[in-house]
Amino acid sequence: MSSRTIQVSPFDLVVFGGTGDLAARKLLPALFQRDRAGQLPSNGRIIGVSRRTLGDDGYLGFVRQSLKDHVKAADLEPEALERFLGRIHFCSVDVTGEAGWPELAALLASGVEFVRAFYFAVSPDLFAPISQRIKQFGLVTPHSRVVVEKPLGKDGESAREVNAAVACVFEESQVFRIDHYLGKETVQNLMALRFANRMFEPLWNSTHIDHIQITVAEDIGVGDRGGYYDTSGAVRDMVQNHILQLLCLIAMEPPDAFQADSVRDEKLKVLKALKRINERNAEHCTVRGQYRSGSVGGLPAPGYLEDIGKDESDTETFVAIRAEIANWRWAGVPFFLRTGKRLGGRTSEIVVNFRPISHSIFDHTAGRISQNRLVIRLQPDEGMTLEVMIKDPGPGGMRLRSIPLDMSFAETFGVSNPDAYERLLMDVIRGNQTLFMRHDEVAAAWRWVDPILAAWNNTAQRIHHYAAGTWGPSASVALIERDGRTWLEDSE
Ligand code: NAD
Repeated sequence: MSSRTIQVSPFDLVVFGGTGDLAARKLLPALFQRDRAGQLPSNGRIIGVSRRTLGDDGYLGFVRQSLKDHVKAADLEPEALERFLGRIHFCSVDVTGEAGWPELAALLASGVEFVRAFYFAVSPDLFAPISQRIKQFGLVTPHSRVVVEKPLGKDGESAREVNAAVACVFEESQVFRIDHYLGKETVQNLMALRFANRMFEPLWNSTHIDHIQITVAEDIGVGDRGGYYDTSGAVRDMVQNHILQLLCLIAMEPPDAFQADSVRDEKLKVLKALKRINERNAEHCTVRGQYRSGSVGGLPAPGYLEDIGKDESDTETFVAIRAEIANWRWAGVPFFLRTGKRLGGRTSEIVVNFRPISHSIFDHTAGRISQNRLVIRLQPDEGMTLEVMIKDPGPGGMRLRSIPLDMSFAETFGVSNPDAYERLLMDVIRGNQTLFMRHDEVAAAWRWVDPILAAWNNTAQRIHHYAAGTWGPSASVALIERDGRTWLEDSE
């Protein structure tokens, strides 16, 4: 299977937070892989910016180490590595002050006609000062863009402030709000599945779909992000962005074209149609949980409070939500959303459960007829499974059984999928915003999430505990079973 690689235009990519964890683990390895694939032009520069005083050589050492730590050794071919390192520059800038900016401006001056992308891989409270300095030093060109990382606020109000700070300097068409889930191959395949096949779209509605589950489960705890996580929790960290974005792609109407605003208009309509969850129904529609000690992969795992070094905390590390979309297509179809840390596995998947057949022509000896199910896996191995009923092969009469028509992308195409950041970074340089969130989507997502958080707060909704290594509190099983459905792992 051959893949086409089209070089992007000449560019300067300025990474604020160039010595941070995100740059080391994701951005630099992704850029290296695209360079290795031949996608970066010879005049493409990567400029790391941070307040550390490293110098070009010191930063090259950092980049080398990051690639060594996060790229497969076999991919680090010496020629590719040297070419990549040749693109790297560094500027020491404390973004809250004036020092270092003139040097950055001088470096950029030699690439005025290039695409200029500013990547804000720093804490969101630095977005405003960085934007202001970019403006003050006249660094915005007609070909400039800015990439902003999550978290985009901690509620609607702070998200509005973040958006406003960036909007003082950049037009909306220049702003790329990244949600790396949208860069995953499977997520884009979801759109191919829905809109490049005749057979699914007629079934994609409440007449034929019984319910949908979206699970983003991690087996790790909060690690060294405990300080941040304790002020955030699962809803802000996962639901407001990744899970709602997945929900939008599953539920949206067909856009008129696979283009940024057409897709984003349709996603926005889904967010607006989500039924409100507030003090009246939060207890019924949501379950919040927090892990206690347990065992993950056969090894003892500490509880959340031990992980964050506190005696008490009200932060949820797990949430399950029964959501509904109040529109013609989806009325009455529950969407069960679930995410958590230290769960029984690391898996992200969307499960589309179809309704039972309307009438069986087979007698009881044929066995139970399972409902068709489409499972779209985002991780660990990206792919899709369509569960269909067949006749059990061989003699013995008509006995039916469900089998998975399985497609693992890695197996099918013989290649491992590029990391989501590879695609998204190239989309930034190309100026394609289709897989990035627009400001009104972010605002609409917060409008749905804020009342849930407020309801928990105002009613002191109970936090259920679960043992590390399980699939969350039993209350989340009750949440779905009240509706006569079961989570995927319980139905197997
Ligand atoms: P980090 O703490 O590892 O790195 C922060 C970077 O910002 C460092 O390079 C530091 O030198 C730089 N910095 C801090 N203050 C500065 C200043 N005043 N002037 C110039 N540079 C300054 O953080 P991180 O994990 O890389 O995360 C960066 C941002 O990306 C955060 O907003 C985070 O929420 C978000 N994010 C991170 C990840 C991840 O995997 N690490 C994933 C998604 C989003």
